[in-house]
Amino acid sequence: MIVAKFGGSSLASAKQFEKVKKIVSSNPDIQVVVVSAPGKRQSGDIKITDYLYTLRSHYKYGVPEDKIEGEIMNRYKEISDDLNLGYRIEDEIKTFFDSCNKNTDTNRIVSRGEYFSARLMAECLGFEFVDAADVLHFTFDGELDEESSSIAVREAVETYGRIVVPGFYGSYPNGDIHLFSRGGSDITGSYIAAFLGADVYENWTDVSGVYKADPRIVKGAEVVESITYEELREMSYMGADVLHQNSVRPCQTHNIPIHIKNTNDPDAPGTYIIEEAKQERPVTGLACKKGFVNFFVYKRHMANQIGFVYDVLEIFKRYNVSVEHIPTGMDNITVVVQEANVSKCIHKILSDLKEELECEVDFEKDMSLVAVVGLNMIGHIGLSAKVLSILASENINIKMIVQSPDEMNIMVGVDTKDADHALDALYQGLHEQNLL
Ligand code: ASP
Repeated sequence: MIVAKFGGSSLASAKQFEKVKKIVSSNPDIQVVVVSAPGKRQSGDIKITDYLYTLRSHYKYGVPEDKIEGEIMNRYKEISDDLNLGYRIEDEIKTFFDSCNKNTDTNRIVSRGEYFSARLMAECLGFEFVDAADVLHFTFDGELDEESSSIAVREAVETYGRIVVPGFYGSYPNGDIHLFSRGGSDITGSYIAAFLGADVYENWTDVSGVYKADPRIVKGAEVVESITYEELREMSYMGADVLHQNSVRPCQTHNIPIHIKNTNDPDAPGTYIIEEAKQERPVTGLACKKGFVNFFVYKRHMANQIGFVYDVLEIFKRYNVSVEHIPTGMDNITVVVQEANVSKCIHKILSDLKEELECEVDFEKDMSLVAVVGLNMIGHIGLSAKVLSILASENINIKMIVQSPDEMNIMVGVDTKDADHALDALYQGLHEQNLL
């Protein structure tokens, strides 16, 4: 049995809905279809979810809403008309708009993107529509109640057979809507696959799998045939944008393979995300994450001062800033954090560090981390030497080197202006040496 999730680009127009229909109707094993809200039809287009966030602000601040309501209505109506569906989605959308006012809950408004998309898809496929609010139950602290959700999902499938479920949301015990974070329909699909003990969780998107490096930067980058859950989590965390980071765990826990497939090229083999690596080469993939800030802390004989690192980190905790890395030397320590997390408190942190720890401080923005990831890197002698020599031969300055303790990730910090060059050089260099 298969749970298949289709992302926003797979649902952006009637033509895309038809592709989904072809995929689903040619595979009777697909029992549950999870959908996102319609995404962009072309670059520059606006996703329905983004429209809904704006619409909510218009309601809240009393800005005229008819133009945005019209845009949303037209997107769904056009899909419905082009597919010749008997179901009048426009009536349901209008009733919803009429029910909204400045107090309407944001989550309810935003979740309608997936809700209406699933309504149309259920009609298009002839499957039963099952509202995610009825089967994904959250506790009041925002945790998914896995036990009761699992029972509800299984009951829905037993009762209705093949079903369509909107992604991205569920409900609190009082019926209010709770959203996963952006891109969260991936998480819905993964939980449903886990609850049903599916043979595979298919995640249909607009790329043909997980690439060995971002193909927008590395021309001709290949797709990985299979990758382990852990490798994918490392790559996603380091910026590879394939699946929502939190969508791996439910399938991983139940050992359900995730299969990334391309709705626009359904015959392409895609990528399997599984427990055991089938890779023979040491490196599985490369990723690059931009936007890091380095805080430099200098203090003579810092290495001998017990608790110094603790005191430094305590200041970052105070501002709720997650620390990514802390390379240390004799008299200095660098704290690496994501720029987005410190944009409002950089100067406060600097002043607290300086005053409380009586040290010299400085900071530098625009560092990027390039990650070389692979389970087979563990115990592979000479790999970091190869990585560093490739970068040296390209004249790229290295600002920081970190190897994760489990040895499956070597991260190199470079100036952001060098990041794409570094990624491309590493791809070509490691590939030529049959290491990637
Ligand atoms: N529609 C939501 C978003 O744009 C969720 C999703 O597509 O997974 O973030």
